[in-house]
Amino acid sequence: MTNLFDDSPPPCPVCSDPGSRPLIFGVPSDEMAVAARLGDIALGGVADDVSAQWMCSVEQCGFRF
Ligand SMILES: [Zn+2]
Repeated sequence: MTNLFDDSPPPCPVCSDPGSRPLIFGVPSDEMAVAARLGDIALGGVADDVSAQWMCSVEQCGFRF
């Protein structure tokens, strides 16, 4: 499977987890919904804070930055 995103994620500023996911806002396409299910991206929904670009993949953290 091809990775949709080439950027390597920055580590989470809160817990230092390196596996941050790109945070995508708006109504997801089918492709984006699949990527989110696979954990490649995080869906921000039709959002509040669109300045965040990444979401920590650690469930207990979930920090958006
Ligand atoms: Zn984190």
